[in-house]
Amino acid sequence: MKRLRTDLEGREAIADYLQAEFSFLENTGVLAPHPGGRSAGLERLEQFQLEKYGKQRNFLDGEVGRLSPYISRGCIELEEVRQWALRHGKSNSVEKFVSELAWRAFFHLVYEEEGDRILKDMEKPKVSMRHHQTTLPEDIASGETGIPSMDTFIAMLKETGYLHNHARMYLASYIVHFRRVSWRVGADWMYGLLIDGDFASNHLSWQWVASTFSHKPYIFNRENLERYAGSVLSGDPRKGDPFNYSYEELSEQLFGSEYQPERSRTSGSYR
Ligand SMILES: Cc1cc2nc3c(=O)[nH]c(=O)nc-3n(C[C@H](O)[C@H](O)[C@H](O)COP(=O)(O)OP(=O)(O)OC[C@H]3O[C@@H](n4cnc5c(N)ncnc54)[C@H](O)[C@@H]3O)c2cc1C
Repeated sequence: MKRLRTDLEGREAIADYLQAEFSFLENTGVLAPHPGGRSAGLERLEQFQLEKYGKQRNFLDGEVGRLSPYISRGCIELEEVRQWALRHGKSNSVEKFVSELAWRAFFHLVYEEEGDRILKDMEKPKVSMRHHQTTLPEDIASGETGIPSMDTFIAMLKETGYLHNHARMYLASYIVHFRRVSWRVGADWMYGLLIDGDFASNHLSWQWVASTFSHKPYIFNRENLERYAGSVLSGDPRKGDPFNYSYEELSEQLFGSEYQPERSRTSGSYR
């Protein structure tokens, strides 16, 4: 087997070399915003302002770790990150951050236990999914849905391989519940585009959104989008905004009147 060179200096030189070796790979001409490797991962950890995380983590422009490309590729260990966080003492930010790390650990334990069963519904869906499509509509694949928020997220995903957690949830919810596409189709598509693609975290999060690994479907409305993603990203008013409804109205439109969502303050917002 041919060994790859490891003596090249600089990201451009490495990218050119890889392009020549693997000419079948699509050349976007743009390097990913996350430089690879352990030292880049540790540098990112240094820059991360953990004290802001508790209050800002749900906002698309808020402070989050952006560590998943390094954690998922083994450049930095989950436990190492947890220990780093715990050294900051007790605070809401530390607690929230460690609990997010725990989601990853949990999804991995589930995968270890269940294996490829995570590719199928883990639980009965809480809303009907009998007629969900089993192919991804072309406008979603190309990022031309006509809905500014969703097209922005798809473009970001394609260009950078990274999306904020809240954007992943919005996009997954849009695909599964608003467009009625099978969660598995959406999960496979997103996994293929992520720089931090992690089978357990990705597929089980899609199931969480779909309601086959949670007690209710995750949906959002325009108010939620505007609060966390900024008004510029919502629907196109000229074409009608599919998100511009109350949660009760959306629930009725998407799932019919048989489905009775529990009335909770957090309904539809981030877990
Ligand atoms: C539909 C969907 C698909 C996803 N696919 C992936 C994936 O393929 N790979 C992946 O690593 N994460 C995935 N996640 C989880 C989460 O979105 C990312 O880990 C997170 O956005 C990465 O950004 P960050 O490092 O800034 O996160 P931070 O908020 O700073 O969190 C720190 C770390 O905790 C872990 N983490 C945080 N939230 C979650 C979560 N909900 N589930 C599992 N781990 C979490 C990650 O390792 C992350 O790097 C997915 C979530 C959704 C809703």
